[in-house]
Amino acid sequence: MAGNIEAPKGFHIERVKQKSHEKIGEAIFIVRDRYVDLQSIGSGAQGVVCSAMDKKTNTRVAIKKLSKPFANETYAKRAFRELRLMKMVNHKNIIGLLNLFTPASSLKDFNDVYIVMELMDADLRRVIGVDLDHDRMSYLLYQLLCGIKHLHMSNIIHRDLKPSNIVVKEDCSLKILDFGLARAADSTFQMTPYVVTRYYRAPEVIVGMKYTENVDMWSVGCIFAEIVKGEILFPGRDYIDQWNKVTQVLGTPGVEFFKYLNPSVRMYCENHTRYPVKTMLELFPDKYFPKGNPDDSVRTDQARNLLGKMLKIDPLDRCSVDAALRHPYVCIWWDKSEVDAPPPPKYDHSVDEKAVPLSQWKELIYNEVQVM
Ligand code: AMP
Repeated sequence: MAGNIEAPKGFHIERVKQKSHEKIGEAIFIVRDRYVDLQSIGSGAQGVVCSAMDKKTNTRVAIKKLSKPFANETYAKRAFRELRLMKMVNHKNIIGLLNLFTPASSLKDFNDVYIVMELMDADLRRVIGVDLDHDRMSYLLYQLLCGIKHLHMSNIIHRDLKPSNIVVKEDCSLKILDFGLARAADSTFQMTPYVVTRYYRAPEVIVGMKYTENVDMWSVGCIFAEIVKGEILFPGRDYIDQWNKVTQVLGTPGVEFFKYLNPSVRMYCENHTRYPVKTMLELFPDKYFPKGNPDDSVRTDQARNLLGKMLKIDPLDRCSVDAALRHPYVCIWWDKSEVDAPPPPKYDHSVDEKAVPLSQWKELIYNEVQVM
């Protein structure tokens, strides 16, 4: 070619060709080509979740879209914590992260995050009301406790355990789905109360007391009771009604419990109607439990005994995760590799506490998505 024409400087490849757009309800999913056949499976506080076929591994996966996770500080902290923790934690009873991506090619274009996870069959809400035998009930409980123990070993208190964030497969495997409100346990730090969804909210959270790891044991007790009874144990309409429901069902706690309360809450609780303490047999009679197998009545007694240890209003009387795992109802499933799996590194929650401008949250989350 005549003349001194410069070599071309290169050209822009339209990256969008490597992605496919799918409309899932109101949400547009822009995913990598390897993910096809998207089907909506649920939605939560943070966004929409789909199942999809991963052509590369020939398995179906779950993809959660976080839309503009940096839109406000609450979303941003939650998304950042979730991404960090999902990368860090590796346990068979906690949902595993398979991939992480954004369609954006630069921070400027960054809007959405897609989290690719193991796909499970349903969340625990679908199991409530299903007739389960003791093997299945105790195995579900065992796995839940293994997952929680693993989180606690990393100084993470979940605080938001509820049937919708626990997922199961038809083979009875169970995984904890999210870390939304997880935050490092720090005995000197009084964590903000009223963050756990109220039906599963522990009494010490309801009344604004300082709380520790066994706040999660209360939630497990409520969830287990719901599986047994087929209905929510403490369906409080609001924060005060939640306390009423707890005391109506279990009975007003003794004076020891009230000693730890701040004076105004103490006055309310002490002057409130006092309800008699009920036995676990009254609360969970035989009719709620499986019958038919020779050892059913022994296991029913064990299940009731364990419920009584988990549903203690005073956290000082409530059993620990370790004690629950050693309980006869559950320990039949004991496997050291599951109970004592090597803990993840301790989660550094200092970023959660920082006052960070929204623009910086955007960058922090973008950076998390770049490193998988
Ligand atoms: P989330 O936004 O994480 O709270 O999820 C919302 C809902 O989507 C859950 O309550 C589940 O019903 C469903 N879901 C989320 N992730 C999965 C998964 N990995 N497998 C199966 N179902 C899921």
